[in-house]
Amino acid sequence: MDRHNGFEQGPIRPPSEASSLLLRVNRNCPWNRCTFCSIYKKSKFSLRPVDEVIHDIDCIHDFIIRLQDRGTSPAALQKNLSPGEEPAFYAAYNWLEGGMESIFLQDADSLVIRPENLLKILRHIRSRFPGVKRITSYARSDSVARIGDEMLKEIAAAGLNRIHIGMETASDTVLKLVRKGVTKETHISAGLKVKAAGIELSEYFLIGLGGTEFSQLHALESADALSRINPDFIRFRTLHLPDKITLYPDGDTRYRWAPDLTLAKEVLTLIEHLHGITSRMTSDHSYNLFQEIDGTLPQEQERLAGVLRTFIAMDREQQILFQVGKRAGYFLRLGDMADPGRVNQVRDICRQSDITPDNADERIHEIVQDRMRRGMPF
Ligand code: SF4
Repeated sequence: MDRHNGFEQGPIRPPSEASSLLLRVNRNCPWNRCTFCSIYKKSKFSLRPVDEVIHDIDCIHDFIIRLQDRGTSPAALQKNLSPGEEPAFYAAYNWLEGGMESIFLQDADSLVIRPENLLKILRHIRSRFPGVKRITSYARSDSVARIGDEMLKEIAAAGLNRIHIGMETASDTVLKLVRKGVTKETHISAGLKVKAAGIELSEYFLIGLGGTEFSQLHALESADALSRINPDFIRFRTLHLPDKITLYPDGDTRYRWAPDLTLAKEVLTLIEHLHGITSRMTSDHSYNLFQEIDGTLPQEQERLAGVLRTFIAMDREQQILFQVGKRAGYFLRLGDMADPGRVNQVRDICRQSDITPDNADERIHEIVQDRMRRGMPF
């Protein structure tokens, strides 16, 4: 969504922020160079003046007051909107319906703006919506690392209580290859800073970013960094790369997409090498093959590792059925394969799509790439 009478919202939010009010404090990504990320590639980064953001907060506040007025129905309000008021109206309406508990600051890195401006925005949110329980944001590790400890505590006291960081990997080799623009040490110091400020921290691990060559290094280095940070959440995302993107540019030819079995081993290595932490681990994205990974460390670490071990130990035909059935929407978890009806339907798909043990990884990769080209889910 773009600008409408001043009110703006950006293109994305984490799935966990589905009920949050999206409040855009700046536009796009200040870095925008990660090779695997195309979200903001065609858009230029810009800061929004604080007054504009304050105006957006007031706009939402105004609609909420009117929507809560028992004398005015939402339909009547909607009918009398002035041109261009719809985006703010719908944002307010949806937020009210969602319980008005949380606000997500957009876009890719709200902590890159001047801390005093962020404080102004947070304090204004608090004054307008004192009942809000959670204010959250994406941030890059290097932006967080640049903020002083005391200032970060002030930001926390003003209401920012969860930060989502796309760690992706803590392997310096892979970080450099994909031009993430941060190092493992920056990831660790930023993560520790967030925690020390009393802000909840969500770290994202990008499955597959190391391809086949660096898969295990990617897992081991990330496990080491996450063990040192102890984030509140570790979330999984899976790399899906359009054909035209070169993941490792600058003439490096080492990237080979990794098949699902390699990725299962990668995630298992990560889980097995996490130690001394109390994070909640979650695979909360439908593109992930193992969405059932959801539990708290350390008590559920073995159970979570068990999901991967079970898959790795399956015979090849069963693995293929799960790989296909999960993507085709027949299975969500490995246990769903106990249903013979669903298994037979997936067998039919394999037959129709010419998927055999000899060509399964390539065929599944081709199908996923094709669906991505056509903008279809997979
Ligand atoms: S920092 Fe995040 S939003 Fe920006 S290019 Fe990298 S992955 Fe994309």
